[in-house]
Amino acid sequence: MTATAASFPGWLETGLGFLFPEICQLCGEQRATAKEGYVCSRCWSHVRFVKPPFCKRCGLPFEGDLTTPFECANCREMELHFSAARSAVVAHGVVLEAIHRYKYQRALWFEPFLAGLLLRETVPALRGQDWDLIVPVPLHPLKQREREFNQAERLAAHLSAATQIPLNKNLLRRVRFTNTQTRLTRPERAANMRGAFTMRPGARLDEERVILVDDVFTTGATTSACAQALLAAGAAEVCVWTVARGI
Ligand SMILES: [Zn+2]
Ligand SMILES: [Zn+2]
Repeated sequence: MTATAASFPGWLETGLGFLFPEICQLCGEQRATAKEGYVCSRCWSHVRFVKPPFCKRCGLPFEGDLTTPFECANCREMELHFSAARSAVVAHGVVLEAIHRYKYQRALWFEPFLAGLLLRETVPALRGQDWDLIVPVPLHPLKQREREFNQAERLAAHLSAATQIPLNKNLLRRVRFTNTQTRLTRPERAANMRGAFTMRPGARLDEERVILVDDVFTTGATTSACAQALLAAGAAEVCVWTVARGI
């Protein structure tokens, strides 16, 4: 299934034009347009992009001037199924606020801002690489019904439109409802996610190289569980791209 550009749901489309004056929805002070995701250039300037050095496996940025590739303590103690994870920006400040309001308060007008951050890093990084498929991390159907949209799916659609790599949003299913994992330790999170994802019945992959997309990467427990399901179904490799990286 190939994605076209993601479209806003009707309830938003009808209101967006006159819902907001052209004011930044983060600081409420500077000018910002719908195309900019209602984030002004001053707020934008507080965004921290993930730059090297970072862990070659999970993308954790490292403060310092390491020049050789390294693997962080998190990756050494966890069994991760993806080959590498990268994030565009650090999950803090304006980015974290925009993501929270986007996800939990349906502030879909932040989407151009968040998708823009992702594309800014992914498009040059993926150029010349050979990936077959983009797959978003699925929400549990109950959660998707409550939220009315899957943020990972929408961000993945932007990535697909920008790179022409086909999107398949129905390949993976979240079969177990998992509550918020913020109070769990890393091993507990990994155990909590085990078996949370399966392939759609009958779906098989044939050595495809898959880009898994999510909004935020925290410990990698969720994306690793997805990668495990994709590899078991025949994927050759799974890498992960997210907008933001919790540190
Ligand atoms: Zn602002
Ligand atoms: Zn790592």
